Amino acid sequence: MGRVIAVANQKGGVGKTTTVINLAAYLADQGKRVLAIDIDPQGNTTTGLGIAKDTVDESLYDVLLGEAPIRDALVTTEVVGLHLLPATMDLAGAEIELTNRAQRELLLRERIEPLRGRYDYIFIDCPPSLGLLTINALAAADSVMIPIQCEFFALEGLAQLLNTIQLVQQRLNPALELEGVLLTMYDGRTNLAAEVAQEVRQHFQQKVYQAVIPRTVRLSEAPSHGLPIFRYDPKSRGAEGYRLLAEEVIQHG
Ligand code: ADP
Ligand code: MG
Repeated sequence: MGRVIAVANQKGGVGKTTTVINLAAYLADQGKRVLAIDIDPQGNTTTGLGIAKDTVDESLYDVLLGEAPIRDALVTTEVVGLHLLPATMDLAGAEIELTNRAQRELLLRERIEPLRGRYDYIFIDCPPSLGLLTINALAAADSVMIPIQCEFFALEGLAQLLNTIQLVQQRLNPALELEGVLLTMYDGRTNLAAEVAQEVRQHFQQKVYQAVIPRTVRLSEAPSHGLPIFRYDPKSRGAEGYRLLAEEVIQHG
């Protein structure tokens, strides 16, 4: 059965999308069957995996609202073995459109259930909020991965995220686990990055991955080419960081 991992942090710009794209792509390259689900209306995972949004026929929006079967919305990517459930702007309206729907927190869980046997890993790239879409991701997931940017204010809002995870565990998904905490955008030249990393390790102990993702411009360039880092610049430090992370994720599984 595939492992469903939600990549969540209500802060924007912490590396959720970059992590989903590169981790998913690396695992697929290692022969795993991987699905990336984009549940952010901005659709950055969709674009970053080389899928132009105006070519998307059925998206997660149609799937969530029950207007298309999930299989019809899946698309293949440049990376063999990596499939994508794309998101488009109309997903932004879904939270409101679903307000009166019964069991609206469990829609994603229901939709992906029949796919679990077809993939080794299913990653869900969350939007930067703790709204209904993120709740759907947490309710659908086996575990949650939290990227934390090694910057000032990085830990702000973390208590709120952990509180939300706890609520989801109590009310919707008792089996939800903390997959791991990932230090991202680490700049080894600054003391601040080292201090944040130390603080995060103190708090989350062995739940923090040994792999640390460096701050590097190559990682921010890759999505504009629609490529994961291991294709765009396989020898870069960013590629190495995500390769090490993928190995830890495989070991953990
Ligand atoms: P989120 O999905 O949490 O909003 P993103 O993955 O989109 O975050 O990252 C935010 C921005 O930072 C993007 O422009 C991305 O390309 C860039 N970025 C992400 N990770 C790194 C990194 N390790 N080094 C440099 N830039 C990065
Ligand atoms: Mg994102």
